[in-house]
Amino acid sequence: MFTLLRVTVCPALVKVFGRYSEVIIVISYRFLGRSMSEASSFSRRRLLQGAGAMWLLSVSPLGLAADSQIIAVRVWPASTYTRVTLESTHQLKYRQFALSNPARLVVDIDGVQLNSVLKKLGNLVHPDDPYIKSARVGQFSPQTLRLVFELKQDVAPHLFALKPVAEFKERLVMDLYPANSDSEKDPLLALLEDYNKGSLDKIPQAEQGPKPGKAGRDRPISIMIDPGHGGEDPGATGKYKTHEKDVVLKIGRRLKALIEQEPNMQAYMTRNEDVFIPLGVRVAKARKQRVDLFVSIHADAFSDRSAHGSSVFALSTKGATSTAARYLAKTQNASDLIGGVSRSGDRYLDHTMFDMVQSLTITDSLKFGKAVLDHMGGINRLHKDSVEQAGFAVLKAPEIPSILVETAFISNVEEERKLRTAAFQQQVAESILKGIKAYFASGAARVRRS
Ligand SMILES: [Zn+2]
Repeated sequence: MFTLLRVTVCPALVKVFGRYSEVIIVISYRFLGRSMSEASSFSRRRLLQGAGAMWLLSVSPLGLAADSQIIAVRVWPASTYTRVTLESTHQLKYRQFALSNPARLVVDIDGVQLNSVLKKLGNLVHPDDPYIKSARVGQFSPQTLRLVFELKQDVAPHLFALKPVAEFKERLVMDLYPANSDSEKDPLLALLEDYNKGSLDKIPQAEQGPKPGKAGRDRPISIMIDPGHGGEDPGATGKYKTHEKDVVLKIGRRLKALIEQEPNMQAYMTRNEDVFIPLGVRVAKARKQRVDLFVSIHADAFSDRSAHGSSVFALSTKGATSTAARYLAKTQNASDLIGGVSRSGDRYLDHTMFDMVQSLTITDSLKFGKAVLDHMGGINRLHKDSVEQAGFAVLKAPEIPSILVETAFISNVEEERKLRTAAFQQQVAESILKGIKAYFASGAARVRRS
């Protein structure tokens, strides 16, 4: 019982739909009795929520825009949030609304036809997904595709589009955060929420820098382990399809286990799942935790497959120490574009760049890096026997000595094979731990704490 009306757009709808000069409204008979001015008085919110899913069903641009094809669907369940990504040939126009009993999130997408890729969505939902119970997809109208996520708990959805980057085409990202979050219990979630609001820089002055007391004597030495990449961002991929994000997570977990066996040390991880965490959030987590050291673990690639060996990097505020270091920092900093953030929440990182604190921290980072590099030399060839420097975003905690360990080149066939073995992963973890101990034993760590 629907009728098609073509109308010239009224101002309220222009506000809602921006550049589109005409809308086609599918309108129910019960709605026809009302004037269009009444219709325009509906708030944007009600409009987008579908007014109880009763009336506004379809919007399309002037003329026939080329239909977009969905070319990939991915689901990344994690304890902090679950991400669903639709990759498409053209930018998607979407709206979302919630339905209750049972709790559902509905996303309508215009100009998309159901295809075999989309039909797999339901099978991609993992039984252990903390947020999504099931997902289905259907052609709601000739122009509109509808996704329905049945939920396990109330969610606060965060939807945004990403421009094509690296090998990815257009993406629509749907992040499902818990609606009733307890930020006390989940500091990472609190940081992600702040990050999404663009307000990450709110660490009070009194809570910056290391915790009081001498690390290792008055209190445990605390380390933030940062396995690089994750979720949508696989990092580098080897010839035999080994993903950097998987290998470095395994090494990170091994390092955490080793540190926890030490009597006076404790370890945290920026991620312990296959989840994408923005670089700024990784840094913020370390600062919030007020750790003594930050270690980012990677296994990157170079176009020349013969490149090999381990290397260690620290931050530079004055350009890179080599072309390779600059290239690497650039590829690492692209992680946010590849993994996908709705906005750049790292404002505070820029003003601290020339801070005195940062320069002292870099001096310590170089000492720490050298200690780790010396031990890495015992298990693998070194790509370079000094610590290199470049503008890595993930190493920018102003008061925490931070290094990035390139464990090996995943693009090198021999090193890819090594990286996959538990033995090498364990050796890397042991070398980093030895480096941490050597750094503290040398007294270098005292410089900033006396
Ligand atoms: Zn990497």
